[in-house]
Amino acid sequence: MSASKEGRHVSGAERIVGHGEISAVMNSLVARAMEKGAMPDMITVKIEDLGNSPLRQLRALDVVTVSTPDPLAGRSCASRILQQAGVGAAAAIAAIRFLSNGAAPSGGNMRGAIIMDSRNGERLEPDRERGVRASRIDWAEETFKKMRRALADLGLTHYRTLEALALATKIAHAPGVLAELCWSDEPDYTAGYVASIRTGYVRFPFLKKKGDPIGGRVFFIDRANLDLEGFINYLQKEPVMIAEIGTCRDPLTPEEYFLSGRRDFRIFSS
Ligand code: AMP
Repeated sequence: MSASKEGRHVSGAERIVGHGEISAVMNSLVARAMEKGAMPDMITVKIEDLGNSPLRQLRALDVVTVSTPDPLAGRSCASRILQQAGVGAAAAIAAIRFLSNGAAPSGGNMRGAIIMDSRNGERLEPDRERGVRASRIDWAEETFKKMRRALADLGLTHYRTLEALALATKIAHAPGVLAELCWSDEPDYTAGYVASIRTGYVRFPFLKKKGDPIGGRVFFIDRANLDLEGFINYLQKEPVMIAEIGTCRDPLTPEEYFLSGRRDFRIFSS
């Protein structure tokens, strides 16, 4: 479902469902589009048959919040964690700069993500204005309920967290991906994350100032091990269902987070 007002996108959502559920789910998506503050003047619902594409089932990434007090501390911590996930310092810096300034060449937000060479920060997405959009991702119904409860126990009740966690889980499992960095373009939503198989979904309460309308996503790839066309096909076409929840840890200070990482490393290396 995609809803817009005066040509501007205001909300969107997608589901993967069985034939029997199509009407009910379509109604709930339309209801959701109309719940939004700005009543849309156009709502489009597209229904696609996934045919014989195998439905890949994944376990959600583990979730932890690092309680950085402000965007500066959040971005510096995010950069350090990206580097732990194998991203070079130059690429981490370039990504943060793009997301701070508006990553589209015309200066604003992109609708999709940047694909970035994790060694040197080079951009590889074919269309820099739009970026690439990951699609065909959903939660299995019971898993969704369990995950919603687990996040709510930590005070994370915003629907965006669940949506972003599902998307980040799909991206992290793509061959050749090292990590992802995201913060929202929604002015009042200041949280963001770094996600990777190695670190899980590491959330920061502030990666930008309240009121800032600029955000975006960067997928960092290992160029030596990436088939770009196959990667974009995976993002856009391969259906993924999140069928198992991951762990949710209590929030950590940056010091606690990096210390706990070192402890894990010692156990791992002994
Ligand atoms: P949001 O978290 O929805 O505010 O999205 C933040 C930014 O992530 C947007 O400005 C887009 O650049 C990018 N983005 C949103 N949805 C997707 C998606 N499905 N695939 C790739 N990038 C996305």
